Amino acid sequence: MGERLVLDGCTVVTMDAARSEHATGHVVVDGTRITAVGSGRYVPGPDDVGRDVRVVDARACVATPGLVDTHNHLYQWATRGLACDSTLFEWLTTLYPVWGGIDEDTTHAAAAAGLGWLARTGCTTSMDHHYVFPHGGGDLLGAEVAAAREVGVRFLATRGSMDLGRSRGGLPPDHVVEEIDDILAASVEAIDRHHDPSPDATVRVGLAPCSPFSVTGDLLRESAALARGRGVRLHTHLAETTDEAAYCRERFGMTPVEYMASVGWLGDDVWFAHGIHFDDPAIATLARTGSGVAHCPSSNARLGAGIARARALRDAGVPVGLGVDGPASNEASSMLEEARHALLLARAVGGPTALTVRDALEVATIGGARVLGWDDQIGSLEPGKLADVALWRVDGLAHGDIVDPVAGLVLGDRPPLALLLVGGRPVVSDDRLVAVDEESLGRALRSASTGLLERAGVLA
Ligand code: ZN
Repeated sequence: MGERLVLDGCTVVTMDAARSEHATGHVVVDGTRITAVGSGRYVPGPDDVGRDVRVVDARACVATPGLVDTHNHLYQWATRGLACDSTLFEWLTTLYPVWGGIDEDTTHAAAAAGLGWLARTGCTTSMDHHYVFPHGGGDLLGAEVAAAREVGVRFLATRGSMDLGRSRGGLPPDHVVEEIDDILAASVEAIDRHHDPSPDATVRVGLAPCSPFSVTGDLLRESAALARGRGVRLHTHLAETTDEAAYCRERFGMTPVEYMASVGWLGDDVWFAHGIHFDDPAIATLARTGSGVAHCPSSNARLGAGIARARALRDAGVPVGLGVDGPASNEASSMLEEARHALLLARAVGGPTALTVRDALEVATIGGARVLGWDDQIGSLEPGKLADVALWRVDGLAHGDIVDPVAGLVLGDRPPLALLLVGGRPVVSDDRLVAVDEESLGRALRSASTGLLERAGVLA
């Protein structure tokens, strides 16, 4: 028997199917998994005798499932704060030349800093959509996976891609796009090297061609066939701007969702980032096929792209999770802030009942787990699930008098993390990363970022 860890006396918000909550409760973790969740203080039983039991006094805290990030571009941690007042297309055309200079070291420094910060904001599982592979840049996906293991978070790395450069009618410059055969070979290698389909997995892999305006239909079709043959998930950007809708109409005579249907990209193994401009027929199609959406409210607002129809998506039964998106369009990259922004933006356009505080926490936890196809293992506090737990300290000045603890988390400022567990292992303790030194991460990131921006001529 391994060590037993008990979070005792905390408010417990389980996000299980019945949405059970315990005003005073406990969570028991044996090894990597949760073995008991209940009301009242923990009472030791016969199976505690003779074993190593650590009881954490959590009376000042609220326990929730660890937050799940369903859309990110971690390499962008090295390029924050650029093109601050631009549209998406202007922002992309400013940043592509900078991103064209990333390499293994830049990507590792950015991913370690980004994942470290996400953990500090309550995130236990992140994904990454990496689609920029400059020639000679080294093993970028391997660098990200290494960073996730160092920080200690669970990670779904997607092998992204672009094969439609400017000379063929796409948006990205030709020097950052790849040939389709190279992309497919690299995708197979990524799955072989990093994908762990087991229930205890800390790293999984998916395939993620970048967007309709940067990849060919052939790449979308081939990627879907490969992913389905290997049992991995599919992800891309969709319906982020009205420009993209116009592009699909002109080039294919279809809406973005109709185009995805035409290349075999709908199903419960597919999720789309953003989905701001889905019309009613598109939402019905997503619901019928079980295709998910990564809602990224902060990034969408930062770029002025619009507000996804979170209420309509949820009412239709579409799986919805939250994503911080790349830090170049969301410098804060805080998962709890995404929950707050999802709620505020939904209510700003849809009225006070558009999203409840518990809906917001749901999309940040079990909703995101479902979008990533991981909800059988993570996303709620239930016996048998992996022990991915955020323990928030809510007795301070910012939260001590907020009556409803879920309102405190979603509407209040982000509280300190007493503890963040991933598979039972502490990743954050007393609001500091446990396994890595935060100052070192910051120094490595600054050095990588400065070098990248100097090479691109952005810094003199
Ligand atoms: Zn994105």
